[in-house]
Amino acid sequence: MSYSENVLSALKARYPYQPEFLQAAEEILKTLQPALDKNPVYEKNKILERLTEPERTFSFRVEWVDDKGQIQVNHGYRVQFNSAIGPYKGGLRFHPSVNEGILKFLGLEQILKNSLTGTPIGGAKGGADFDPKGKSDNEVMRFCQAFMIQLYRYIGATVDVPAGDIGVGGREIGYLYGAYKRLTTRYEGILTGKGLTYGGSLARTEATGYGLVYFTDAMLKDRGDSLKGKICSVSGAGNVATYCCEKLYQMGATPVTVSDSRGFIYDPNGIKVDVLEQVKQQERAPLSRYAELVPTAKFTPVSAYPAGRHPVWDVKVDAAFPCATQNELNEEDAKALLKNGCKCVAEGANMPSTIGAINEFLKAGIAYGPAKAANAGGVATSQLEMEQNAGMTAWTFEEVDGKLHNIMTNLYNNAAATAREFKLDGNLVLGANIAGFRKVAEAMIAQGVI
Ligand code: NDP
Repeated sequence: MSYSENVLSALKARYPYQPEFLQAAEEILKTLQPALDKNPVYEKNKILERLTEPERTFSFRVEWVDDKGQIQVNHGYRVQFNSAIGPYKGGLRFHPSVNEGILKFLGLEQILKNSLTGTPIGGAKGGADFDPKGKSDNEVMRFCQAFMIQLYRYIGATVDVPAGDIGVGGREIGYLYGAYKRLTTRYEGILTGKGLTYGGSLARTEATGYGLVYFTDAMLKDRGDSLKGKICSVSGAGNVATYCCEKLYQMGATPVTVSDSRGFIYDPNGIKVDVLEQVKQQERAPLSRYAELVPTAKFTPVSAYPAGRHPVWDVKVDAAFPCATQNELNEEDAKALLKNGCKCVAEGANMPSTIGAINEFLKAGIAYGPAKAANAGGVATSQLEMEQNAGMTAWTFEEVDGKLHNIMTNLYNNAAATAREFKLDGNLVLGANIAGFRKVAEAMIAQGVI
């Protein structure tokens, strides 16, 4: 067995109850072997064993009182995975599915993603099994305050700087920030994704979706193609999906689908971003509401999905952008996309494609942008927010957006060049994993066994 296979099989024996973590580890470790063969120093330093074990994980009880006066108890976590190249950085997810294994998958991805951005930030992830859906603003506020009572002692502007993720948007970040300030009396950049009136960065809200499209643009240009005139499917209807749609229009493409946990919308005339924002961000309503407001839109509920399928990927498109959640695009979905002539898939969500789906895309040789490269624009702009906070300054939208565009183009070039170095031209899974890995591994070796 190779070094990476050995480490993977040890992880499988130790963490059989963390399937998402094992899936992410498998996807990463398998592609690193050529770099490990080329440089035996990584194995000698047991880098893979050290990289796949978090530096530390906090798990805590979060207790709060709902609007009916009932006591509620949730589980909270922070996985501080790797600080070799900078302070821990990675989002908080509030969703009923959250557990340690899901946060470890996200944290492991985050280490390499943050490295790829070219900025000095380590990898982390956190969250709670709390569902903000259906809760009043006051309940969300009380939960965020209770969560921060536990988290505040482990974070800091040069220690660990969390951000948002699924279920944690501007509202939640505001309540979390207020709670931190009250507990510590310190006004400092301990969270990113903050509101513009209290230290947030312009363009951070849009950054993941915009960055995804900038990355795709660079990837297509390298193939002598462009987004202009492309019909696109997008999944998800939250932060990443919304700004992906907005930027696709700006690039001359047309998004025709969006989805949420209740179903998906297909509108051949193109998704109306203002209506999407109204329904999901202001009304916090399910997507069926979108179809009430836009007569040309058709809503298909999840109850009508064929078993094991996500029919949003059956729509005939040129390019697909999964932007909802992990494992939302499986091997059958990938085959359906390819059969309909889809030539490009770029991932806004983390690990949206199963390993079977990824293999289909690589086999077909289409332009495939894996999440840790394609969706790195969010965290890259979070780092820009940290820079502005540290300098007590605020840059213009154009300045931040211009830096984001550069970062995504450089990131694509780095991943593509690394794939070429290993004679696997176009394999950005390998290119991104190895490029992200080498920087972290070199820093770990330089810092010794600590
Ligand atoms: P949001 O909470 O804003 O939106 C998530 C969207 O995905 C919602 O429309 C939600 O539906 C849908 N969704 C969530 N779970 C499921 C599910 N099991 N089945 C179907 N739909 C689902 O989150 P974000 O847009 O911030 O995050 C989306 C993805 O992008 C995640 O994978 C996240 O990790 C990743 N990401 C986010 C970044 C960011 O900056 N926000 C940065 C990098 C990656 P509903 O409205 O019904 O809940």
